[in-house]
Amino acid sequence: MLTSQKLKKFAKAVGADLIGIAPIGRFVDAPADMHPCSIFPETKSVVVLACRLLKGSFRGIKEGTDWYSYLIYGYGPGIYGTLVDATYRTKKFIESFGWEAVESPGKAALYEMGPERAPVADGKLPPDVTISMRLAAAAAGLGELGHSKVFLTPEFGPRQRFAIILTDAELEPDPLYEGILCDNCMKCVYHCPGRAIGQKKNITAEIEGRLFSWADLDYGKCKLTHWGFNKDASPFMVKDLPGLSMDVVEQTMTWREAFDFGHTLAKEVEYIALTAKGNSELEHGGSPGSICGARGCIQACVEHWESRKVDGEL
Ligand code: SF4
Repeated sequence: MLTSQKLKKFAKAVGADLIGIAPIGRFVDAPADMHPCSIFPETKSVVVLACRLLKGSFRGIKEGTDWYSYLIYGYGPGIYGTLVDATYRTKKFIESFGWEAVESPGKAALYEMGPERAPVADGKLPPDVTISMRLAAAAAGLGELGHSKVFLTPEFGPRQRFAIILTDAELEPDPLYEGILCDNCMKCVYHCPGRAIGQKKNITAEIEGRLFSWADLDYGKCKLTHWGFNKDASPFMVKDLPGLSMDVVEQTMTWREAFDFGHTLAKEVEYIALTAKGNSELEHGGSPGSICGARGCIQACVEHWESRKVDGEL
């Protein structure tokens, strides 16, 4: 018989650092285009796996000497290779007990991107339905969303990425995380070079009476900065596009517009094109590299998190 205990033991043995389980009832308020049952109507349990993002992944960007490592080990096969492998093996484990296991890979930005296509038939939702991985992680009891919307766990602070498995197996759920991890230090806001993170926690979601809140983000400014079109975050702009004066903080592009802008210009910006070549997927229409290195939303948060550990607060 499949139990939560057996499932957790297995998932950790095959590479997951964290695993939490939410009953489907915790998604009662999710909109249809983010609801697990829109993907797998028989879903009874939502299993969330996480792999930790290693502190050393940021070192090259911090030193200003290597912009590949974070992209490859923080975004690409370095972390997702392990996470996808652990997810696939965990799905096989669930199905070996006669249940069905449906993956929903965490895609942070896709929902903001909006549906790319019309529904394939009358009565269908537009593809692709995307579950909020951060709210799924909250529902699975793994932690809470911090001010910047980056998810915090007691084990790793802001350093992890998620994958989701939907199953018709009714598993013993984890309780919601009851502690408070984000102390509203605002370091993410002050250190974000794109000024993309709002000052106030004005977005909320309630799960079984527990309120999760985070600040509104300007996804266009974030995307432009993340991809290196911000002189405050990228030393390459002035070298590769001399004379271009573009204050990212003044831009009003949407995430989608910034995404298209990045793809159009990436080939013209020598280092971004070079970074993209560091990841073979990117050569086939993928995204430019991460030049910002999440220096506000993750790096500043990690530093603060570590100092709280030293001070015995955590
Ligand atoms: S990735 Fe960079 S620009 Fe985007 S929110 Fe984080 S620190 Fe700000």
